[in-house]
Amino acid sequence: MPKTVKLNWEFVFREFEKRGYILTTPAYKNAFHPLFYICQKHPQVVQYIVYNSLQRGCGCWYCGLEKKGLARRLQLDQVIKATEENGMIYEGLINPDETLHSKSYVRYRCPKHPDVYQQMRYNNIQQKFGCPFCYEGEAQGHEVSQQRPR
Ligand SMILES: [Zn+2]
Ligand SMILES: [Zn+2]
Repeated sequence: MPKTVKLNWEFVFREFEKRGYILTTPAYKNAFHPLFYICQKHPQVVQYIVYNSLQRGCGCWYCGLEKKGLARRLQLDQVIKATEENGMIYEGLINPDETLHSKSYVRYRCPKHPDVYQQMRYNNIQQKFGCPFCYEGEAQGHEVSQQRPR
């Protein structure tokens, strides 16, 4: 008897089970045949996937959204950390609903100029750009001391 490596339904069922899904399609044909399943975290909706995609790491759409939400929270943590490392007080994003990227505007305040709400692109914060008022003060002071009398 030749041993077949062909996937059987039980094997596929267990593969779904490992990911927290319940396979509801009662037969397995091939890796490109849609299989219906229920995600145990989102049992209100029946979804389908081909086994090939499941193997590639695809799965429940809602779990994917939650992962994206988590990724966004992690990103936000980084923005807050970068702002605070710059010595600024993080006040939020200018467009809180936009997808975070390096050109997103961050709202912050300088502890030395707390009356002014300022904003800066995230990539500038990462480059350690500081408060323009502090910078101006320093620059002016510097220029004055270097200025030659006319
Ligand atoms: Zn899910
Ligand atoms: Zn300042």
